[in-house]
Amino acid sequence: MNKTPSTPAKIELGHVTHLYLSSNRAFMAVKDINLRVEEGEFICLVGPSGCGKTTLLSLIAGLEQPTSGKILIDGNRVTGTSSQVGYMLQQDYLFNWRSIEDNVFLGLEIKGIRNKETEEYALHLLDEMELIDVRKSSPTQLSGGMRQRVALVRTLACQPQILLLDEPFSALDYHTKLKLEDLVFTTLRRHKKTAILVTHDLSESIALGDRVLIFSRNPGQVRTELTIPAPIRHALPFEARNQEGFSDLFQYVWKEMEVLSDAAKGD
Ligand code: ADP
Ligand code: MG
Repeated sequence: MNKTPSTPAKIELGHVTHLYLSSNRAFMAVKDINLRVEEGEFICLVGPSGCGKTTLLSLIAGLEQPTSGKILIDGNRVTGTSSQVGYMLQQDYLFNWRSIEDNVFLGLEIKGIRNKETEEYALHLLDEMELIDVRKSSPTQLSGGMRQRVALVRTLACQPQILLLDEPFSALDYHTKLKLEDLVFTTLRRHKKTAILVTHDLSESIALGDRVLIFSRNPGQVRTELTIPAPIRHALPFEARNQEGFSDLFQYVWKEMEVLSDAAKGD
């Protein structure tokens, strides 16, 4: 990860501002965002509701075009969606009338890359995520945590280099969420993915991220950036929570969020 500044970042945002326009108003969702994400980095975004986290992911995914500023992936301007970027949402969007494996293959079909080799890779991922035994089942037979794992496999099966994850664990019970955090962390590291995860769980952001960006709202801006120390960064998320210094970082992020919520009360 020790690259010279001249190497293009995996993802680079320069002065990115985005306005949502309606017939009678313009709303500035994010303002002047500058960000450099290196290949293989895991970035977590936290911030109050409405601070533009989802907007930022949609911009990086090429689903929205920034009103001003530039977004580059590997030094190339983002002008639309790309197979390099996988986007996973809070809701799993599995089709209940298709089997688990057909839901996963659907991702390949949509991208026009379904063949024997990509199917085999998808099955390998299902195996890694301990889902191979349920591949012929319907999503209705699966728990919430299993469904999210299927959704993750569907995203990973297309072999994106970048993963954008918008609160993927937020609807899960605590126990399932902790287990899934470890699995996602290990899987993304093993496959050397670059990831941006949005979460409202502060402890999750510290446990998973190499860096945590705290956003403020109206307009959405990066208020603070926190680099997670190596012992916490390298530990599995579950273990990271027991590392020395973890609770100090949590207190710090918590206080930053408190300042933001106090500021919001004055809106
Ligand atoms: P977050 O994900 O941090 O909760 P969002 O990116 O969803 O925030 O939204 C940021 C702000 O932009 C919010 O105030 C939201 O109401 C507004 N917004 C989001 N999407 C749209 C849209 N399509 N049209 C108008 N305003 C929007
Ligand atoms: Mg959101």
